[in-house]
Amino acid sequence: MNTYQHFIKNEWVEPDSGQYFDALDPFSGETWAKLPQGNAIDVDRAATAAAVAMEGPWSKMSATDRGMLLYRLGALIESNAQKLAEVESRDNGKLLSEVLGQVRYAAKYFYYYGGLADKIQGAVIPNDKPKVFNYTRYEPVGVVATITPWNSSLLLTAWKVAPALCAGNTIVAKPSEHTSVSMFELAKLFVEAGFPPGVFNVITGFGKDVGEPLVAHPAVSVVAFTGGDEGGRRVAVQAAQHFKRCTLELGGKSPNIVFDDADLTNAANGVVTGIFSAGGQTCMAGSRLLLQESIHDEFVERLLTICKDAKIGNPAEPGVQVGPVATKPQFDKVVSYIDIAKSEGANCVLGGKTRSGNGYGAGQFVEPTIFTGVNNSMRIAQEEVFGPILSVLKFKDEDDAVRIGNDIRFGLAAGVWTKSLHRAMYMSEKLRAGTVWINNYRSTSFTTPFGGFKDSGLGREGGVEAVKEFLEVKSVWVSTDLQMPDPFIRKY
Ligand code: NAD
Repeated sequence: MNTYQHFIKNEWVEPDSGQYFDALDPFSGETWAKLPQGNAIDVDRAATAAAVAMEGPWSKMSATDRGMLLYRLGALIESNAQKLAEVESRDNGKLLSEVLGQVRYAAKYFYYYGGLADKIQGAVIPNDKPKVFNYTRYEPVGVVATITPWNSSLLLTAWKVAPALCAGNTIVAKPSEHTSVSMFELAKLFVEAGFPPGVFNVITGFGKDVGEPLVAHPAVSVVAFTGGDEGGRRVAVQAAQHFKRCTLELGGKSPNIVFDDADLTNAANGVVTGIFSAGGQTCMAGSRLLLQESIHDEFVERLLTICKDAKIGNPAEPGVQVGPVATKPQFDKVVSYIDIAKSEGANCVLGGKTRSGNGYGAGQFVEPTIFTGVNNSMRIAQEEVFGPILSVLKFKDEDDAVRIGNDIRFGLAAGVWTKSLHRAMYMSEKLRAGTVWINNYRSTSFTTPFGGFKDSGLGREGGVEAVKEFLEVKSVWVSTDLQMPDPFIRKY
């Protein structure tokens, strides 16, 4: 069993506490690695190292060379994808095949932002002042803290780290206490790629012990956080106290809306992908299915046909379609929502049970579950479960779908299934969500901004938009006048 150490200045550093905590395999329930338990002293070491690195060889490197380093890291992630995916799947219980795809895709973020590094341009701004030349330049903000959840550790870290490094910043990464091993394996690749010491640092531990001191640390300029809204709120409050910027990618309860004119075969597959891939443990899960009244019964039948024989089991085994819930507290939460839905009067038409015994390891499994008869004021319609639970609601027409779709505090994403171009455009305009998918669900890319409206967060990840979160813009005024005007009178 591996015992890991914090990663600071390209070195493995014992935790100040001398304590280690368990990395648990959600399938077997066994401890499979030991992780350093961080505290404020470890955070200070890492943040200071990252601040010092902002003044070192990293800052003197040309943007082109910086981009080349990112590119090299991407290539190493790709060639080590199997190993990285195995440790991440072992930590979070997601299907190995899915995690492998995610890790390979994470490499592309480093390619994209590597290419972008020397294309960040300021502007020459025509202005109204005589004989003064004005231009803008973009500069790195400094040290960026990345704080990530357990569901997709490497990919969500790549979403933050690649644009932050592209912009010339340095990083202290704090992965979820439930899924930290892959971050240390990634750190090894930073060394192999040739990043200078201090550019990427990793401290593991709990939100209170590591996350909070990291957000508060004076050397940290931006916090890039993905997680639940409770943690997100605390990060935002704390960041505000220190006038720090933060990006927050929080939860969702996204509506997946199927109209009667849709290709129902595609829509049914899209709805299943939306909720049951990754066992519903994704922020963008399409966990509220809105069905036009006339197709309700037929569509639910289609879902049952697709899902009733889903293969549940060991996520490392080929052919398995649903893995375990990633953590025991999350398992308990998902199970509690099944009880909540039943007590609210929703009809359980699929699943609703846990699985244990032979082939189910420690028994942290919840069957893909569908509730019909849900109305939008029920808790099962309003609250994020983060598990394989689908709530089905009915709507009458476009405006009814918009009303129900938007009647929620979240605004991360929405899906719309229709053959009508007019309807698709109307819905994409009216839905209050950071992403709207028309006749598909879950597409995301390094090229494209992703983020939430309302309680789903602040800021964007992906595309050129993401780099702006990690840059300061400076206006430079250069006088071309040989003589200063009267110094006592300011001219406008
Ligand atoms: P979480 O908020 O409990 O933890 C996320 C991270 O924040 C962890 O590393 C944790 O240690 C840290 N943390 C917790 N409290 C903190 C604090 N006060 N200060 C600083 N750091 C703190 O979330 P989770 O349970 O690990 O993940 C599930 C949640 O993440 C869900 O709500 C889900 O919707 C959300 N999520 C959002 C996205 C997105 O892109 N919008 C993607 C994946 C997950």
